[in-house]
Amino acid sequence: MKKWFFFGVLCVLAACQEEKVQTDDDFDKYKEAFVLRLWEMNPGWASSTGFHKYDSVLVVPDKAREEKERQFVQKELEQLSQFQSDKLSEANQIDLKLMRNYLEGSNWDREQLKSGEWNPSNYNVCGGFAEMLGNNYAPLDERLKNFSIRLKHVPAYYEAAKKNIKNPTKEHTQLAIEQNRGGLSVFTTDLPAALEKSKLTAGEKAELLKRSDAAIKAINGFAGWLEKMPNPSPRSFRLGSELYAKKFEFDLQSDKSAKEIYQSALTHKKELHQKMVKISRQIWNKHMGSKPMPKDEYVLVKQLIDQLSLQHTTPENFQKDIEKQIPQLEKFVRDKKLIYLDPKKPLVVRREPDYMAGVAGASISAPGPYDKNGNTYYNVGSMNGWPTEQSESYLREYNDYVLQILNIHEAVPGHYTQLIYSNNSPSIIKSIFGNGAMVEGWAVYTELMMLENGYGNNSPEMWLMYYKWNLRTTCNTILDYSVHNLYFTKEQAMNLLVNEAYQQQAEAEGKWRRATLSQVQLCSYYTGFTEICSLREELMKKQGKAFDLKRFHEKFLSYGSAPVRDIRQMMLGK
Ligand code: ZN
Ligand code: ZN
Repeated sequence: MKKWFFFGVLCVLAACQEEKVQTDDDFDKYKEAFVLRLWEMNPGWASSTGFHKYDSVLVVPDKAREEKERQFVQKELEQLSQFQSDKLSEANQIDLKLMRNYLEGSNWDREQLKSGEWNPSNYNVCGGFAEMLGNNYAPLDERLKNFSIRLKHVPAYYEAAKKNIKNPTKEHTQLAIEQNRGGLSVFTTDLPAALEKSKLTAGEKAELLKRSDAAIKAINGFAGWLEKMPNPSPRSFRLGSELYAKKFEFDLQSDKSAKEIYQSALTHKKELHQKMVKISRQIWNKHMGSKPMPKDEYVLVKQLIDQLSLQHTTPENFQKDIEKQIPQLEKFVRDKKLIYLDPKKPLVVRREPDYMAGVAGASISAPGPYDKNGNTYYNVGSMNGWPTEQSESYLREYNDYVLQILNIHEAVPGHYTQLIYSNNSPSIIKSIFGNGAMVEGWAVYTELMMLENGYGNNSPEMWLMYYKWNLRTTCNTILDYSVHNLYFTKEQAMNLLVNEAYQQQAEAEGKWRRATLSQVQLCSYYTGFTEICSLREELMKKQGKAFDLKRFHEKFLSYGSAPVRDIRQMMLGK
């Protein structure tokens, strides 16, 4: 009996050994199954990517759920360790790293960062429900039935949230109150409107409304509870160096540490200032006539920027002007042979849909991983109904120079071009865990690259406005690092943004608020930008005359939205 048992164990061990030699095929199968398990664990996230199988499920963030998450991560990490990275294709090696980073990061979130305790705005069900009504992915009645089942657990959801929250920050508490109350209109306005159009039975409708009332009560109850909660020594919104350094590692996946990137940004800011002063002196008379040149260098640059900002479009022509520029940018990119552009995937410029409104500006909406053939939209904010003063200030910010840089960044060859390449690198892992620093870094890099190649006819005015724009990106990093590590006061922050980066008061106030509510994200732009610039420099040195800019861009983007660190490794063969 004993002997037989022993034999059995040996067999199992041998089977494991054999499994060690895992191929790309095995890994692809594992990935596919992993993604399905990931969606089962995270129904809300699944819905937002266009995977609607779990729409009726609302996860209650209680202790049992926490344990389930822990086990999920542990199991997946164990399975991942079965794969030997160097036996896999380049694309799969990167996927493996992205998956491990996600799993280890979510462990760290739960055990160390613990934002579920101090950030009450983590708890909000409204967005998910709004998506179910606003997004037409399935027949209305089907969506409403799932909506109804999902509603059942809203009271339990907020009860669990209350148990998790301990010593929250004042800023995130306030945000949670605003956002939860703000989201209520889904149940008070959107739902009744949808019910009118639906063919649900009277009984089903009554049941749904009953559940909706209970949800409204739970949301109001949560907001009221937060308002009255005694919180004599709230936690600081500042993350502190230790947590910040680690979050930086998980979120940006850079070769450099947070501190190194911060120091690089400080140096870069100094260089930008020197260049701006030099240009300003050079073109002062051309734009300011006989007006005496200010002695103070900041005043000098600011006056010129203000003068150039007067050249801008009108609220009526804003969208048309953006539309007109896209083919011009595409022509420039083709003529200069900067990167191949796929003509089969046009960019659709449209007025920002209502549910996005509020923050005017421009943004790209890309089709999700489950809707690859969907349109890519360039959403342009409308200044409809704005007081003249407000639209004037906005248009000065997005003046004729900056508007071109914005289009490079958002569209061609920035985000929109990168997206097409990313979709051609068909890895669902990269579209789920895509690296924000790479994506933003690419868009920021293309601004410089276009100007280097003569976009804007090398005019000093264009360069001056570009430097101002790049200074904003650079100062995002300095601000975020300083707020969370060096305990920057609001006064210090405003001095940095308004006096040293030439920003409008309102813009600077918004940035300060963003830095108090988020951590690390503001660093992604500069981090990716500087990493891509160094990689290009390294390759130019290595390849000498053989270096080809177009080939570099196409190769770089062919890896999908992977961390620059990993792309670098593949491109340099290290
Ligand atoms: Zn004007
Ligand atoms: Zn961007």
